Amino acid sequence: ALKAGIVGLPNVGKSTLFNAITQAGAESANYPFCTIDPNVGVVEVPDERLDKLTELVVPNKTVPTAFEFIDIAGIVKGASKGEGLGNKFLAHIREVDAIVHVVRCFQDENITHVSGKVDPIGDIQTINLELILADIDSVDRKIERSRKNMKGGDKKVAQEVEVLERVKEALYNDQPARSLELSEDEQQLIRDLHLLTLKPVLYAANVSEGEAADAGDNPYVKLVREFASAEGAEVVPISAKVESEIAELEGDDKAMFLEELGLKESGLNRLIGAAYKLLGLYTYFTAGVQEVRAWTIRKGTKAPQAAGVIHTDFERGFIRAEVVSYEDLMNAGSMNAAKEKGQLRLEGKDYTVKDGDVMHFRFNV
Ligand code: GDP
Repeated sequence: ALKAGIVGLPNVGKSTLFNAITQAGAESANYPFCTIDPNVGVVEVPDERLDKLTELVVPNKTVPTAFEFIDIAGIVKGASKGEGLGNKFLAHIREVDAIVHVVRCFQDENITHVSGKVDPIGDIQTINLELILADIDSVDRKIERSRKNMKGGDKKVAQEVEVLERVKEALYNDQPARSLELSEDEQQLIRDLHLLTLKPVLYAANVSEGEAADAGDNPYVKLVREFASAEGAEVVPISAKVESEIAELEGDDKAMFLEELGLKESGLNRLIGAAYKLLGLYTYFTAGVQEVRAWTIRKGTKAPQAAGVIHTDFERGFIRAEVVSYEDLMNAGSMNAAKEKGQLRLEGKDYTVKDGDVMHFRFNV
């Protein structure tokens, strides 16, 4: 499963947010492939299309797609030099696909701030610096090794070094590697380094309870937004404390509480949606009377590999897929109507799955 790691300085609200995530947690029986670990929370990705498909098909069961949030506690100033959990913490970040960086934007005299005052940009820079220092270390070492290996004049290694030199320059200027906007090919050349600052980032601005519905006037959030837009990152204002209260409720109680707060949906759902988007993921659906279900793929995935997300047998024995787009299916009103209109296509192994495709796989066992 894809993973987003939660980072942030101590006392900014990471655990509070992470607890809300695990409270709201997905029914794990549906997701046997997810990691079972106290530091991992499985979340279901809210998707209006799945609700509409459920109304249309009326299946026995509906299963949203899911991904994992990992609580990566322990970053402090000096982590890249081994302080706190130091390198162990950084190793956990290498494994995630995206980073959710929690930043303190709430005022509360009773909660100590590690640097003595609420200072979201300072906080962001403290953590970013540790990640940058760790990357400088990786890049320097890699350049040195590659130079040694380059004696034969290997063109690929030369290209790799050229990209690394650019990354190095950005890092020495305190800029994350993602700020370079490298092409797919360039990223491929340096993929094996698992650079921390190349990962996409979402800033979760933790605001006070009173600002859960509207943090528009919070000056700290404004600062974070400015910082993030310069960096090409996203911001989601959220009140971790309110989310932990919402997560304890269900059904009508939850709906009433959200209404009282003036919220259309929980901040957690907004955060999940934003993280999903940040990861550049697509959703396709299967829609049978037994089960209507959403599945996650990366953009560019071919039909057999998309089938493999359901089961490896589906990929191995793939013959073809029956495909209708979500829009066509909804407009037609039923699978049969879509078929009559010629909108149910047969696609082979070279078909690139689109976001919102409703698919049925034919395969040999
Ligand atoms: P972590 O060290 O980043 O994991 O931070 P915690 O989640 O443990 O939060 C630190 C303290 O801040 C706890 O006492 C939380 O109750 C408190 N806290 C977290 N979010 C909020 C918030 O939105 N408002 C207020 N007033 N306190 C919060």
